[in-house]
Parts: sequence; C-alpha cells; structure tokens
Amino acid sequence: DKRNPVTVVGLGPMGQAMVRAFLDNGHRTTVWNRTAHRADELVAKGAIRAATMAEALAASQVVILSLTDYQAMYDILDAAGDALAGRVIVNLSSDNPDKTRKAATWLANRGASLIAGGVMVPAPLVGHEAAYVFYSGPRAVFEAHQATLRILGRTDYLGEDHGLSQLYYQAQLDIFLTSLSAFLHAVALVGTAGVPAKSFLPYAVDNFNSISSYLAEASRHVDEGRHPGDLANVAMMGATARHIVEASADAGVEIGLPSAVKAHYDRAMAAGRGNESWTSLFEVIRRPS
Ligand code: NDP
Repeated sequence: DKRNPVTVVGLGPMGQAMVRAFLDNGHRTTVWNRTAHRADELVAKGAIRAATMAEALAASQVVILSLTDYQAMYDILDAAGDALAGRVIVNLSSDNPDKTRKAATWLANRGASLIAGGVMVPAPLVGHEAAYVFYSGPRAVFEAHQATLRILGRTDYLGEDHGLSQLYYQAQLDIFLTSLSAFLHAVALVGTAGVPAKSFLPYAVDNFNSISSYLAEASRHVDEGRHPGDLANVAMMGATARHIVEASADAGVEIGLPSAVKAHYDRAMAAGRGNESWTSLFEVIRRPS
C-alpha cells in the first residue's frame, strides 16, 4: 500500500470525521479512544482498533490527536514511555499557544516531534472542499507528512514556532464567537419589541456581508500605524456605542458586550483619538492600560 498508515487518537465528532476521511482515501487507519466503544462504528468501516495506546503509537509514524485540550495529551501519553520515540505527534486539539510550545519540549524530551494544528471547519466538513487546517512546527517534518494531512483539508503551514497555529486558530475563533454573540445580542434587542429573529435576519445578513469590505483598509491602517479618515471617526462611533448600551439597558437586555465595545471608544477618546478613524481602537486594544 503506497499510502502511509496513520493513527488517530480521540474519537469525538472531529476525530471520527478524520478517521472516515482517511479510510475513504485508502489509508491504513489505526484508532484508539479512552472510551473504547466510540471506535465501534469506525472499526466496522475498516479502521484498526489498537488495544492500548502503545499499540496505537507503534502502528504508524504519524499519530494524530483530536482531544479536548493539551492536558488530555499528557493524560494519554505520560505512560507511553519508549513508544513515543520517533513518532510525529500531530496534535489538532485546541488550547493556548504557550501550552503548545511546552508540549513540543515535552515530546522532544521523549524523542517525538510535534506538529501542532487547528482545524478550521466543523466536523462534517473535514475532508471537504472548504476545509483548511492551520499547522506549525518543524518545516521538514510537516512537509514529509503533508500529503497525508492533505486528506483532512487544505494545509496552511504558518511557521516553525509551534504556537503559531493555536494563535491563528484562537484569533479566528475570537472573531467567530464575538460575532455570534453580537448577533444574538442584536436579536435580543429587537426581540424586546416583539420582533422575531426571522424578521431581523435579512438585515443581519446584509451587515455580516458588508463588514468584510472594511477589513482591507482597516488592516492597512493597523499595519501602517496611521488611522486617517473622518467618515467613521472615534467620536461618532463612540457616541453610537453609548447609544447601544443605553438602548440595551432601557430594554432590559444585558449590557456586558456593548459595554466592552464602548470601553474601547472611551479609552481612545481619552487618548485624544476622537478625530481618527475607528481603526485607532487597535492602539488601545493591543495595549490595555
Ligand atoms: P470532544 O470533546 O467530543 O472529544 C474529545 C476527545 O478527547 C474524546 O475522544 C475524549 O475521549 C478525549 N478526551 C478528553 N479528555 C481526555 C482525557 N483526559 N484523557 C483521554 N481522552 C480524553 O471534541 P471534538 O471531537 O468535537 O473536538 C476535538 C478537538 O477539535 C477539540 O480541541 C475541539 O476544540 C477541536 N475542534 C472541534 C470542532 C468541532 O466542530 N467539533 C471544530 C474545530 C475544532 P472520551 O471519548 O473517552 O471522552
């Protein structure tokens, strides 16, 4: 078989989707999960069940972890001992960049290399056209196994610093989670007048679609450290931020999220940035006083 064998450890929705993608592409796929029965369906489809973690490590040079966090990796691998030597651990579990860097050292001390990653699509899209995964870690190790990893989705390699993939991953989820909460907050606000979410929906969609058109100019301002522009300056946008907090308070919905946004404008105003573009909020966001 010209395809490289692969081991997948952690069979939540994400790990299961990965195993299916590898099996569909003809890879010899070994699986292990703390709760053994979660492997049953995959074994019926052709995956090989490892009885122990040591067996799972022995089966393939590439061992993909799809766990809740990095602590789970230590819980699983701590007892593996010599079985780790020579393995490439591709950890696609979510955590913070520092934990990722520490894990690289921990694995190196046991003779294994770490490729850290973050999957940027929900489980049902793994292996499909829209799927992409951030990776970071030693370039040569990544490139040696890129063809295997490509099965899961586009491989976006970010650099040697192991923390980079988690940094990009968390930055993407920062946008995602904040935007989802903003949408729900807006729906709650109009909902206080008896407006169902479906009536507001077309306006929300229009808003989300147009936001991306502001990002190229905003990125330029951020990179150049200059924030010219009087179409949407800090003073005007800050007044709007205050109105949102007031409207929310009057309507009796929570004010935590709009208050956090208003605080950015308040600090930019206090720093004398009232006449600059809203993008100058970046300067107070990156250096909270
Ligand atoms: P789940 O939480 O459903 O699965 C987690 C897996 O980790 C399970 O196999 C679980 O084993 C195992 N696990 C957790 N703690 C331990 C431990 N202490 N010891 C041994 N095994 C442990 O997560 P998902 O499959 O949804 O996600 C996996 C990773 O992928 C997460 O980091 C998530 O953030 C990320 N991700 C998920 C997406 C999604 O849409 N689901 C999207 C993008 C990224 P057991 O079965 O025994 O409980």
